[in-house]
Amino acid sequence: MKTRPHKATLEALISLCKRRGFIFQSSELYDGLNGFWDYGPLGCELKRRVREAWWKAMVQRREDVVGLDSAIIMHPRVWEASGHTTSFADPMVDCRACRKRFRADVLCEEQGQQLVQTAQGYSLPEGIKCPACGARDLTPPRAFNLMFKTFVGPLEEESAVAYLRPETAQGIFVQFQNVLAVSRQKIPFGIAQIGKAFRNEINPRHFTFRSREFEQMELEYFIKPGSDTQWYEYWVAERLKWYEAIGLPATSLQASAYPPDKLAHYAKACTDVLYDFPFGWQELEGIAARGAFDLTQHQTHSGKSMEYFDPETREKFIPHVIEPSAGVDRVALALLCEAYREEWVPKADVAGEPRRAEPGKPVPEGYEPRTVMAFAPAMAPIQVAVFPLLKNKPELVAQARTVFSQLQRRWTCFWDQTGAIGRRYRRQDEIGTPFGVTIDFQTLQDQTVTLRDRDTMQQDHVHVDDLQAYIAKKIAY
Ligand code: ATP
Repeated sequence: MKTRPHKATLEALISLCKRRGFIFQSSELYDGLNGFWDYGPLGCELKRRVREAWWKAMVQRREDVVGLDSAIIMHPRVWEASGHTTSFADPMVDCRACRKRFRADVLCEEQGQQLVQTAQGYSLPEGIKCPACGARDLTPPRAFNLMFKTFVGPLEEESAVAYLRPETAQGIFVQFQNVLAVSRQKIPFGIAQIGKAFRNEINPRHFTFRSREFEQMELEYFIKPGSDTQWYEYWVAERLKWYEAIGLPATSLQASAYPPDKLAHYAKACTDVLYDFPFGWQELEGIAARGAFDLTQHQTHSGKSMEYFDPETREKFIPHVIEPSAGVDRVALALLCEAYREEWVPKADVAGEPRRAEPGKPVPEGYEPRTVMAFAPAMAPIQVAVFPLLKNKPELVAQARTVFSQLQRRWTCFWDQTGAIGRRYRRQDEIGTPFGVTIDFQTLQDQTVTLRDRDTMQQDHVHVDDLQAYIAKKIAY
């Protein structure tokens, strides 16, 4: 596998995320709840960028995909039909010595082995030990269903049991006929959905990477049986292009196809898009050719037809489906990891280029350290910061307010009038704001502002009338 020098350690990133308000531990006031996270002011902007970029690429800019926003809690029979009630389970083991609990397949992989799976169930290979205390005293693996259970209505009885959805996809399948009837789409076409999903993960870890509450972005693309390979390959290529467009370079991405013996029994093919996280290559998205499995299951369980009538060939068939399924939180985490850099920059902020900091070495003469989040401009939480040079000069502040309110209509902007200008730039660097606009005395004379670029730290003079066009070009996604 390819490797590259990591830009961030996870610890440095977690600390920046908390310090600057990207991500907080959920319920921190009560010591947190494992597997749950809150996104602060910058984090929720970042997630909005991810969702918007996905929706633009998958729905807005296509004629063959429409959206859906289905309920989180659905009829429990949905999960019987989909197979989640019986088989959406991970193998779990307990350490008898320290009482910690682990996902058996992950544990085996981490120790260079494979969990043994037979018709009778799972068993651990020889020599697997507890990663927490080192004891070789683990219970045999047993299946643990990952769905969160709840009750609908006032009575906590078996007939009132419902589940928080573990994926958004089933909401799409069960509305297939309704959407088809209203959208005037013909096969091939897709239904897209973004929304929360819940899984009672045995071992939430790697910050937000494996959480118990997270958000998915899923497309179900319905096709004619037989065109599976063509559309599957199309979607794998499209999705890889999307990741590059939002600022994850090809060198940090990998498409990993499943070998046939690892595929779910109904799947024809599956590719995971992996990102080079500080904790290893891990999945951002799965793209699966699922055949007619899901619609057939719902037809069988509901007794209602899931067939499609092709008006041209006059054939009836259950469509096959290609499913690209990504996680908002994992994409946001990858963007954070990719953006993080520690640099040495010239003290005056203008002359000279920023340099990548060399760990363990002293900062060179005339330089100072900076942490910068080099997000692609379109994905940055704050896109433009506006600074009146001096806060006690009303004519500067008034002019800056005018510029600020114009920019705010199009982009997420930040107003900062306190502190030395270099310090204000540095604060924005650390949260990844790509552009700083300073209103100074020259602005009052000739209507030009100073536009500072986060990455090069170069400063250009731009006329206020040209400012929006200039920024729009750079922020275009
Ligand atoms: P994993 O193997 O990592 O458990 P999965 O293959 O079960 O993931 P899918 O069921 O294919 O995941 O879900 C589609 C996408 O939803 C994943 O690629 C990921 O981006 C996201 N996702 C799944 N589980 C989680 C989780 N616990 N926390 C955050 N995101 C998740």
